[in-house]
Amino acid sequence: MTRPTANPRRAVPAVDKVLAALVPVALPRPMVVAIVREVLATLRRAQSVPGFEEVVQQVQRSLQDAGRARLCSVINGTGIIIHTNLGRAPLSPAALRGINEAAGYCNLEMDLTDGKRGGRAAHVERCLALLCGAEAAAVVNNCAAALVLALRHYTAAKPEVIISRGELVQIGGGFRIPEILAASGAVLREVGTTNRTTLEDYSRALGPKTGLLLQVHRSNFFMEGFVASPGTAELAALAKKKRVPFVVDLGSGAPCDTDGWAGEHEPTPAEVIKQGATLVCFSGDKLLGGPQAGVIVGSARHVAALKREPFFRALRCDKLVLAAMQGTVEEHLSGNHAANPVQAMLSADVISLRRRARRIVKSLAGLSLKVSVGEGRAQAGGGTLPRVQIPSVTVSCESAGVAGLLRAARTPVIGYVAGNRFHIDLRTVFPSQDRALIAAFREVLNRETIQKPITHEE
Ligand SMILES: *Cc1c(COP(=O)(O)O)cnc(C)c1O
Repeated sequence: MTRPTANPRRAVPAVDKVLAALVPVALPRPMVVAIVREVLATLRRAQSVPGFEEVVQQVQRSLQDAGRARLCSVINGTGIIIHTNLGRAPLSPAALRGINEAAGYCNLEMDLTDGKRGGRAAHVERCLALLCGAEAAAVVNNCAAALVLALRHYTAAKPEVIISRGELVQIGGGFRIPEILAASGAVLREVGTTNRTTLEDYSRALGPKTGLLLQVHRSNFFMEGFVASPGTAELAALAKKKRVPFVVDLGSGAPCDTDGWAGEHEPTPAEVIKQGATLVCFSGDKLLGGPQAGVIVGSARHVAALKREPFFRALRCDKLVLAAMQGTVEEHLSGNHAANPVQAMLSADVISLRRRARRIVKSLAGLSLKVSVGEGRAQAGGGTLPRVQIPSVTVSCESAGVAGLLRAARTPVIGYVAGNRFHIDLRTVFPSQDRALIAAFREVLNRETIQKPITHEE
């Protein structure tokens, strides 16, 4: 094959001519036209125009790249259950049914008993309050929004927020507690040191300018060694004595005990409420396994005051989120935690994962690259339970470029490379995706080899 020659004097082809030569793609026509123009403009600037066929191929590649930016379903083989880049929590069928029902008209703000205007989110708030053993609940767009709402509310009259230096943390991309505080107009009053803060430190800092006492859960890291800080109950008692609101930013929001499978205790919103927090906020799409949302639970008076803030209007959730939240929370409230994909993945047993892995590997025998069963370590992810590594099972092969190829498959597969090998952790792959996973391997590794399709016995 000869290299396509680039000729500086050759003119770029006409847009229409290129458009006519393209293989159809699933992108809106104006976007296709814009991409053709961009590619041609780049070639014109470079003053090096390849032959027509090569121009068309370049355009086709750009179209393919643009098409990959469309939101689409992927197979998560990373072993990270709550993966922010992959959309955090996968929703449960109950949440999906909720979305489906609410998508058309729904009783979002109508009381069906009297036909008058009803409270938006009234039912889901009631469920959340029950789940967390709190008097009341409110739902906003995410946990960051919940925290900003609380900070703005309590610091309007008294600007100072008291927080331990050990909790001035960064949660994820663009979420740093000191910056959130500054953006909310609060004045940061740091107490203690990075590794040690005492109740006395808090007590000394409390004064007439204190708007609230804030505790931020160290959800995504842990400290060991010469460390100490007062417990939530102690802080709650101090705040109560000094008549200052006590807000806990919990983040993770575990709906049930994690000790059983994780061997590690993650505080639940219900526990923190019981320990005396005025308000607790947590994410909807972490351990709760729901849609992106920020949940605030706590005293009825305080929750109502937050909801009266004009700023609350800017943070309110749409009907689809509320419907997904309703399905998610009703399930947890009924004790049916295992129906939630996050909980199901966290507690899936290794034996069944291995059985699936063997079946997948068997049906991939004879490909150009040998695929085998391996051991893996899955994680909860989403900045939760950072210490917990869950034994898992992988489908693995030599790494040579496989990661990129599988990302480009019809159903993109995302795995990870470790020890010179490419791995797919099956804990985060839905059993219903096993076929698509096999198809993706076949598509990219060896199109000629056809094995008989696997059948699921479960
Ligand atoms: C994840 C987390 C947040 C941010 O939650 P979002 O819902 O992503 O806004 C805030 N605080 C803590 C402690 C967290 O773990």
